[in-house]
Amino acid sequence: MLDKKMQAYKKKERIPRVTPAKYKKEFPFLKEVDSFALCNVQLQLEKAFKDHFRNRKQFKLPKFKKKREKQSYTTNSVRDSIRVDFEKSLLYLPKIREGVKIELHRRFDGKIKSVTVSRTNDGKYYASILVETQNPRNKVVEPKSKACGIDLGLEHFVTVTNDFRSYKVEHPKYLLKGEERLKRLQKSFSKKQKGSKNSEKARLRLARQHAYITNARNDFLHKLSKAIIDENQVVVVEDINVKGLLKTRLAKSVADSGWSKFLKYLKYKAEWYGRTFIQVDRFFPSSKLCHRCGHKNNDLALNDRTWCCPACGETHDRDVNASINLYYVGIGRPEVTPVEQALVDDRSPYGLPKKPSCEEAGSSTAKG
Ligand SMILES: [Zn+2]
Repeated sequence: MLDKKMQAYKKKERIPRVTPAKYKKEFPFLKEVDSFALCNVQLQLEKAFKDHFRNRKQFKLPKFKKKREKQSYTTNSVRDSIRVDFEKSLLYLPKIREGVKIELHRRFDGKIKSVTVSRTNDGKYYASILVETQNPRNKVVEPKSKACGIDLGLEHFVTVTNDFRSYKVEHPKYLLKGEERLKRLQKSFSKKQKGSKNSEKARLRLARQHAYITNARNDFLHKLSKAIIDENQVVVVEDINVKGLLKTRLAKSVADSGWSKFLKYLKYKAEWYGRTFIQVDRFFPSSKLCHRCGHKNNDLALNDRTWCCPACGETHDRDVNASINLYYVGIGRPEVTPVEQALVDDRSPYGLPKKPSCEEAGSSTAKG
């Protein structure tokens, strides 16, 4: 169908409407597939051309698929032609009467509208099931903490301060290990002779590892963002110009740590569960403000992990201090002025970590 349309396009003729039915004689295997699967391909192809003529810059002309890349088809349910047997873990699709054994992620209610079956380039099959349901709201948990501030870090994935405490979340070890393995597989693949059997094996191993890391990272980001949204009514993050950072030396670690995805997840989950998501202005100096007295430390360098406030003498862990300042935004106190210092000190029962004084910190450095 694409070929036929492209021929007309190249000759500057009117692009014909082509239906899959025409090809059934020439390609009998098309009869093995259910008619919705074919129909959806036709619709997708028509949409691709329509999009292209609407906006040539954004939508390029459709291309032929490569066999090796991800493949998929979509089929619709009519009169329960698609069913899921939760007990036996079977998915019934049109023309597959005996059902397909599946590994089910969760039970669901509602009417099945369509299913997209896809095969990833590491050779695994997935079925994504679209369901119509009356009540799409997820269960909402009562938040324990009024607000939290989240500092995105490089050494740690995030540092969080809520009503009760400050804590750091590390990059998961399995991800770091997985990335090391990915590098090794990448090297091994590039050394193999192109087109050889060993090269194909190495490609598959590499694709599998890629898929593993993507899935593992998404799982980590989903669980962490859900836990934070469950716990807090207001969630405050920095407005990191991720794209700006990506151009710099930090690029690799920023991309790997998945910040932008994490923020995206927090944002939509906040909407789902009725929480407030605040992204502070890019110029809000969350790292440079002393959370205790409000002094702004303009000398703070990017690699200063701890610093001592010249105004009040408090020693700060850079990330914890930043997350506390973001937390203050969440509870409606973006500027902590020295006048409020006493009030801030009243907060110590909440468990914001007490820091050693400047002198103590200084003497220990001298020893080291
Ligand atoms: Zn201070």
